[in-house]
Amino acid sequence: MLRRLLLSLCMLPAFALPASAADSLRLTDVQVVDVEQGRLLQRDVLLQDGRIKALLAPGEQAAGHAGATETLDLGGRYLIPGLWDMHVHFEGTELVEDNALLLPVYLAYGITAVRDASGSLASTVLQWRSEIAAGKRLGPSIFTSGQKFEGVDSLWEGDREIADREQMLSGMDEQQALGVDFIKITENTLPPELFLDTVAEAHRRGLLVSTHVPLGLGIFELAEAGVSSIEHASYLLRLGNPDEAAIARAVRAGELTAEAANARYDRGFDQATANAAYARLAQQDVAVTPTLIGGRQLAWLDETDHSNDAFLRYLTRQFTAKYQWRIDRMAGDTEAQRAARKVRYRQIAAQLPPLQQAGVTLLAGSDSAALNTYVYPAQALHDELGLFVEAGLTPLQALQAATINGASFMRLGQDYGSIAPGKRADLVVLDANPLADIAATRSVHAVIRGGERFDRAALDALLLAAAERKQALEAARQP
Ligand SMILES: [Zn+2]
Repeated sequence: MLRRLLLSLCMLPAFALPASAADSLRLTDVQVVDVEQGRLLQRDVLLQDGRIKALLAPGEQAAGHAGATETLDLGGRYLIPGLWDMHVHFEGTELVEDNALLLPVYLAYGITAVRDASGSLASTVLQWRSEIAAGKRLGPSIFTSGQKFEGVDSLWEGDREIADREQMLSGMDEQQALGVDFIKITENTLPPELFLDTVAEAHRRGLLVSTHVPLGLGIFELAEAGVSSIEHASYLLRLGNPDEAAIARAVRAGELTAEAANARYDRGFDQATANAAYARLAQQDVAVTPTLIGGRQLAWLDETDHSNDAFLRYLTRQFTAKYQWRIDRMAGDTEAQRAARKVRYRQIAAQLPPLQQAGVTLLAGSDSAALNTYVYPAQALHDELGLFVEAGLTPLQALQAATINGASFMRLGQDYGSIAPGKRADLVVLDANPLADIAATRSVHAVIRGGERFDRAALDALLLAAAERKQALEAARQP
C-alpha cells in the first residue's frame, strides 16, 4: 500500500516501508500540466514503485497491470512536476538545526529538489543529502557543490581556499571523492587566472561548474573554459558593454581598478550589444540562474515592513539575526542611492526576456540563505517565479525554469522535470492553473514524492512541526 505520512521532523525509520511492487496509485480527474509544450492534458496518471508508469485516457485500462490499484480523485485540479530551487544555501555553523527544520518546509511548498550552491555547512549538507535519499529524513532531494572554491582569506566561512594549481587539484580530488554534484567557484579573493584554471579543470573532469564572474575575467573566457552556469543575472549587464573582454583584461593586468571597471559598465550599457552576446552564450550552452528576489527585497526594504511576515514562524531569531548586516550596511543610504538600487533591480530583471529569447537556459533559484535578507527558504522560489513573470516571461517559461530546465541542467532529464512515463513520481497537485497565473504554484493541495503521499493535512502537519521546532530551539537558547 502507498502510505500516507503524517510524520514528525526528526529521523524517520517508519519511512523504509516500500509500496508493494504490484500495487499502484491512479490519479483521476486531474489536468496534467505538460511543461514542455505548455498544454493541459486530461489524463489519469498511474504511479507505481515511486515512478510514473503511464498516462492514460480517463477510463482506459493499463496494459499488463495485474496488481491492486488505489484511486485518488483530484477533483479537476492541476498536476505539475515537483519544483526545483536551483540556488539555495545552508548557512551558519551555529544554525544546523535551524536549517534542518526547514527541509520538510520545502516539501510543503511543493519543492522536491534544491541545488545547494555551497555554504558553511558542506559536510552536514552531504549527510542530509544521503539521509533524504535513503528515506531517513524528510526533505527535498539535495544536489550540492560541497565546499566552494575561493582564494586565501576569503570572507566566506567553510569554503575551500586555494593558493595555487596544486591546491586546486587536490581540492577537486577531495570534492570528487565526496561525490559532489557540481563545482561552485566565487571571486572574493581567488585570482582570475586560478579561477579560470579551476573552471577548466572541473570541465575537463566532466563536472558541472557554476560560478560568479570576477571583474578580471570576461564572460566568454569563462564560457570557453567550460562554465555550465552563471549565477546571478547582475553579472550579465557587463555584456551590454562592447568592451567587456578588454575591460576584464585591463583589470587582470592591473591597468584598471575594480571601481573604474564598474564605472565603465555602469555608463556603457547597450541592449543590442547585450542581446548579441546572449545569443553567443546560448550557443555555448551556458545557463543562467538570475536570482532576482534577493536584490528585489533589498531595493524595496525602505518601503516594506517585514516584521509580520508569516514565514518568520519557521525562522529562529538566530537565523534572522544574520539579515541585519545588510540592513545596517544600507541604513545610511541617501535618497539617490535608494533610487539607484531600484533602477538597477529593474535593469537586471529586464534582461530575462532577451535572455529567454536568445535561447539561454534560465534556472529558477532563490538564493535563499540565512545571509540573504528576507529571502525566505522555500517561499522565495515562488516569489522568484512571480518576478520572472513580472519581468516579462510567460508563466510557462517561469515554470520550465523551476522544473525541466533544472533537471536537464543536472543531466537528470531522464528521471525528473516533467510528467512522463518512467520518470520519478515527484509531483505537486495545485488548486489553480499555473499556465494561466504563476501564483498558482503557491496553491499546493498535495505533494507526491516517489511512493510517499502528502495531502494538505499532512503538509500542514509538517509546517506546524517546523514552527514548533523553531520555538523549541529558541526556548532552549534562552539565557
Ligand atoms: Zn548564492
